[in-house]
Amino acid sequence: MGSIISARQVLTPSGWLADHAIHVDEAGVIAEVSPRGFNAAAAVGTALPGMANVHTHSFQRAMAGLAEARGPAGADDFWTWRQVMYRFLDILAPDHMEAIAALVQLEMAEAGYTASAEFHYLHHQVGGGHFDNLAETSQRIFAASKSSGIGLTHLPVLYTHGGLDGRPLKDGQLRFGSSAAAFEALYTRISGCARDMPADFRLGVAPHSLRAVDREGLEMCLALCPDGPFHIHAAEQVKEVEEVEAHLGARPVRWLLDNLPVDKRWCLIHATHLNARETSDLAASDAVAGLCPTTEANLGDGIFPAQAYLTAKGRLGIGSDSNIRISVAEELRMLELSQRLAHRQRAVLTDDITRSNGRYLYERAARGGAQAIGRNAGSIETGKLADVVALRDDLPFLDWPEADQRLDAWIFGVEARAVSDVWAAGRHIVQDGEHRRAPEIRSRFARTIRELGAAL
Ligand SMILES: [Zn+2]
Repeated sequence: MGSIISARQVLTPSGWLADHAIHVDEAGVIAEVSPRGFNAAAAVGTALPGMANVHTHSFQRAMAGLAEARGPAGADDFWTWRQVMYRFLDILAPDHMEAIAALVQLEMAEAGYTASAEFHYLHHQVGGGHFDNLAETSQRIFAASKSSGIGLTHLPVLYTHGGLDGRPLKDGQLRFGSSAAAFEALYTRISGCARDMPADFRLGVAPHSLRAVDREGLEMCLALCPDGPFHIHAAEQVKEVEEVEAHLGARPVRWLLDNLPVDKRWCLIHATHLNARETSDLAASDAVAGLCPTTEANLGDGIFPAQAYLTAKGRLGIGSDSNIRISVAEELRMLELSQRLAHRQRAVLTDDITRSNGRYLYERAARGGAQAIGRNAGSIETGKLADVVALRDDLPFLDWPEADQRLDAWIFGVEARAVSDVWAAGRHIVQDGEHRRAPEIRSRFARTIRELGAAL
């Protein structure tokens, strides 16, 4: 049995359509978008293509509040934040990971994300010992997604050493680490477990970064996953760019473009620090720049050259990364506002055709995000998965005559309570602003936080 989503406005590749019905087949795919079957009494307000979250480490959501104080050395940065994260890992068990991931996915859905790419490196026990079930922690992420109903792209992470000089892993990193052979076994086991996931599930791979994986490791990942999404942390920190340049003779994005087959299945997470040549060459590669504006601001990473990149027709997606905030509207707003501050202009990221700053960013992030996570989605049209987000039309701030104005109002001015309904591959997971399994997922998360608080 299929279903019908009626909406007052629908954002499609050919523009806004008023009073239309989205017909969804039993596989969760859009069969038709037309006025036929439109039901005014059951209509949602403004229907948008669902947003893909291209980058998340779900467990980090539970660290919110633990790393917002200045460290004892008098200065705080990404690297001191990472020390807090490693200490947090010493108390995190698989049960906690599942409860946190379910909550994070629930919050993502309520914010308008319909799918999420888990960049999953927490594979092992404290100290680095393997679980009896090698894929234990991946299966916890799978279980969370079955409970939340969000579309999942899973990215098992290869992490082999602690720095570009090849130093061994230590402390918190031991839980991430795998030799090439161990990773191959782990990856095979995870692929096996993925067989009972829904049809819209995707499996990709993610060598962690050039800091943590060498050329052989990268080539092994390409061989293990010859056609799925391929993600890597690229150039988040200036210190990282300098280290890569010192060891490999080129800046990280330059090195990746020159040495590996970077193409449309690649997503370069935090391609923050690009020079002009890298910006245009990355745009020309058809890979996606995976930007995480709220986390990049929180961690003091720097500002991505979005204006030049989009002018060169670069593709981008957004991610919530550390999950310090989970908000589609805020990621897009932060992306634009950082450009306004850098360029001392307004409405920087748009063009003369779209004009609306919000719609331009939203459409690009939805399309680029779907590409990055290997999902047949990102627009509302026949043949795509029914990933749909509805904005309310009964909030005074969203009650403007033009649909573009309503979308801009959401992104730049209203964020909270604006999303009424969410469908992921046709699964109706958020209704009237609330996830359908909110009470059980939230209470399990609350128990988990109490346990973690007592153990810290
Ligand atoms: Zn990350």
